[in-house]
Amino acid sequence: MSTDSKLFPGLSQRPDLIDLSALLLDWYDRNARTLPWRDDPSPYHVLLSEVMLQQTQVETVIPYFRRFIAELPDFAALSVVEDARLLRLWQGLGYYRRAHYLKRAAIEIMRLYGGVLPADYHAIRRLPGVGDYTAGAVASIAFGLPVAAVDGNVLRVLARITGSKADVTAARAKKDCAALVTELMDTRRPGDFTQALMELGAVICRPGAQAKCACCPVNRLCLARAQNNVAALPVKAPKKPRRQEHRSLLLIRQKDALLLRRREDGGLLGGLYEPVNLPGHLTEAEIKAFVTARGGRLLALDSLGERRHLFTHISWHMRGWLVDTQGLCDFDDHFFAPLSEIADGYPMPSAFKGFINQVL
Ligand code: SF4
Repeated sequence: MSTDSKLFPGLSQRPDLIDLSALLLDWYDRNARTLPWRDDPSPYHVLLSEVMLQQTQVETVIPYFRRFIAELPDFAALSVVEDARLLRLWQGLGYYRRAHYLKRAAIEIMRLYGGVLPADYHAIRRLPGVGDYTAGAVASIAFGLPVAAVDGNVLRVLARITGSKADVTAARAKKDCAALVTELMDTRRPGDFTQALMELGAVICRPGAQAKCACCPVNRLCLARAQNNVAALPVKAPKKPRRQEHRSLLLIRQKDALLLRRREDGGLLGGLYEPVNLPGHLTEAEIKAFVTARGGRLLALDSLGERRHLFTHISWHMRGWLVDTQGLCDFDDHFFAPLSEIADGYPMPSAFKGFINQVL
C-alpha cells in the first residue's frame, strides 16, 4: 500500500508533525496526572490498570486498582485466587469477562515465564484477553519498547491533528493510526509518549465540542482546528442499536434466605450470582404459577419497581418483585443463600443492585 492511500497521513505528507513528540512530551512532563499505576509501572500494574480502564473512567478505576493490588500484589497471587474473591474485587466495575481473562493471563505468565513477563510484544499479545492496544500499552509503558498503543483517545487526537475523515471504527484506520504513532514516537521515551497521547485525549482533546483547543500543546499542528472542524472528528460509523430485552427479577425470599444461582462461566456476567431472572415481564398470576409449579406457596408479592441496565449490545428492561414463599425447595441450579451472607459472599452485578439493596 502506498503512503498516499493511508487513512492517517504520515511524515512524508505532514513533515511539520516532526515537532509533535517534543511538544507533547514537554506538556506531559509538566501536566501528567498522578495516578497510582504510574508510581511503579511494573508489567503487572500496567496490565491490570489498562484492563480496568477499558470502558471505565479513571476516577472509578483508582480505588479498585488500589484494593486489587493490596489483596493480589502480583501475577502469582492473581493466578491462584478463587473466582468468588476475584469477582468481589471486580464487583461494580462491570465487563466481568475482563477479570476472568486477567486471571487466565496470570496463570499463563506463571506457567510459561515463572511469573516474569518477558519484554516481548508478541509474548504479551498472545496472553488471554490481551489485544493490540493492551499489548502495545504494556510493551511501551512497562518495558519501554517502541510499540504503538491505539485506543479511542489516540484515534480522536490523531484524526483531528491530521484532519483524517476515516471511519475510526474500521480495523484499517486503527492500523494506519498505529503506523503514524510509531513514526511520530520518541523512541527514547516510548512509554511516556504513549501515555502523553492518551492523556491529551483524556483531558484536552475531549470528544465532541468539549475539546480545549486554546490550551492544547499541539494546536499549531492541528488541521481540524485550522479548518474549524473539531467537533465533527473523528468520524465513526453508527453503532448497531442494542437488542432490547424484557426481564423479570424474582427475589424469592423464604425465612431469611434468598433464592440465587451462579451464572454460567464465559457468558454475559459469567460467574456472578443472580436472583431468579426470567425472560419477559411476568404478570402476578404467572409469578404465582411459577412458585406453585415448584412446590411452593406464595405468601406475599410486592413490586420492587422497574430498572434499565445497558450492556454493550443489549439493553435490559427489568421489573423486580419481592416474592415471599413457603415450602419451596432448591431447584435446577438455584439455591437459598442466607440474606446476611449475600453482600459479602455472593458477588453480584450492579445490574441487580437496585433491587437487591431493597431487601438486604
Ligand atoms: S487543537 Fe483541539 S482538536 Fe486539535 S489536538 Fe488540540 S485539542 Fe484536539
